[in-house]
Amino acid sequence: MEYRNLIGGDWFACGTGRANVNPSDVTDIIGHAAQAGEGELDAAIAAAHAAAPLWAASTPQQRFDALDFTGAELLARKEELGRLLSREEGKTLAEGIGEVARAGQIFKFFAGEALRQTGDRLASVRPGVEVEVTRTPVGVVGLITPWNFPIAIPAWKIAPALAHGNAVVLKPADLVPGCAHALVEILSCAGLPAGVVNLVMGRGSEIGPRLVSDARVDAISFTGSVPTGRGIAAACGAAMKKVQLEMGGKNPMVVLDDADLDLAVAACLNGAFFSTGQRCTASSRLIVTEGVHDRFVAALTAAMRDLPVGDALDPATQMGPVVDARQLEQNLDYVEIARAEGGTVTGGERLVLDKDGFYMAPALITETTPDMRINREEVFGPVASVLRVRDYDEALAVANDTEFGLSAGICSTSLKHASHFKANARAGMVMVNLPTAGVDYHVPFGGTKGSSYGAREQGTYAAEFYTTVKTAYTLP
Ligand code: NAD
Repeated sequence: MEYRNLIGGDWFACGTGRANVNPSDVTDIIGHAAQAGEGELDAAIAAAHAAAPLWAASTPQQRFDALDFTGAELLARKEELGRLLSREEGKTLAEGIGEVARAGQIFKFFAGEALRQTGDRLASVRPGVEVEVTRTPVGVVGLITPWNFPIAIPAWKIAPALAHGNAVVLKPADLVPGCAHALVEILSCAGLPAGVVNLVMGRGSEIGPRLVSDARVDAISFTGSVPTGRGIAAACGAAMKKVQLEMGGKNPMVVLDDADLDLAVAACLNGAFFSTGQRCTASSRLIVTEGVHDRFVAALTAAMRDLPVGDALDPATQMGPVVDARQLEQNLDYVEIARAEGGTVTGGERLVLDKDGFYMAPALITETTPDMRINREEVFGPVASVLRVRDYDEALAVANDTEFGLSAGICSTSLKHASHFKANARAGMVMVNLPTAGVDYHVPFGGTKGSSYGAREQGTYAAEFYTTVKTAYTLP
């Protein structure tokens, strides 16, 4: 399969195709992706710049139709596209299909939002003057996305961008061109004017900074790692360009003595190891009070041993491979760092299975302390640590002792502790008796501190980023 770039309504096979490989089986080359250079990126931005006024002038019905069509297609083709997603990224088939369905629901949600363009009419302090507050499109939005949710994350940026009347240039992650291509192919049939949606695949370190710095791009929405996000924030700050960054996490899951143990183990197993731990919201720090610590560790260790690791496309698999060789080596390195720091390691070894893929066993590091690197740095793989604490107060302090602030969870039957945690956990999303990962598609998503910067994504709150507020005064 050849994946091409969509520029101004036409598909271009530019540059030498970069192979995308199935992480469950490296002998399976899925396709080759076009690699945009400076010229193709320039053409894509020019096309978006030319199309932006057209789409800004579109009716709510036109926007609804395009988004509703895209949502319906994604939902109708969720098995086929979910299979592509699992083959390309390595999450299990159930997770892949679930992600495509979620993307479809996101488009359906924003189809409805396109009909709900609202404004305010305010009283003026001057006699006879009318004041209206409306939201207008931002213009051209550059969307830069990571590999771990290769359909849902582009969807949750493209859908609100289009619903609110913007043109976009999507720069997906290098590892997942197939998913980006499939999504944009559907959008290319959705009745949008040429140039409203553009796809440029290419090396992030080369075309990414150009997309960010181009003066014709009015705003940048980025999801990815903290170092890349920092660079983008600096460039956008210097240019006074609107920017939204969703980055990493070191998400705590607190387990108190009074927790339902089965529920807590299930929540931590899911939060730490599903999607091979490759979620920004993964539960990577399990903070457990001493009364339940040993029973919790024993039960979670047993559940980890029963977690079938294997080919993402095998329906029996519950944890697929790591996305690529570099990420696998990084995960294994972190296991060794944790061991060298004094942690006790269960699992975490490279697995050699029938197929030649990037497999490892889920890793649990016990007997850790808050200052260890394993508790401070995002691994972005199936590696979780356990911190033993005295009581709830210490648990909360440890949970908040991180530069990140994306998601935080607590397992407890105490209403008092759950309420206190909801109010005092320094995170953008708080979960009670639920995994730190696993969010609804229609409510705000994002974090605090080093995890996020700028307006929230998803739901009605996405309007903050994808629109500019205009205040109009009229003396009739
Ligand atoms: P990454 O930062 O390496 O890449 C993200 C995107 O940025 C890719 O498209 C990449 O090509 C592009 N890019 C690379 N260098 C660039 C540059 N100099 N300028 C502009 N763009 C550039 O991240 P990744 O490895 O793809 O994704 C993993 C990270 O994403 C993890 O840290 C994870 O926590 C984070 N993530 C966050 C969320 C969230 O919503 N908070 C969701 C998913 C993933």
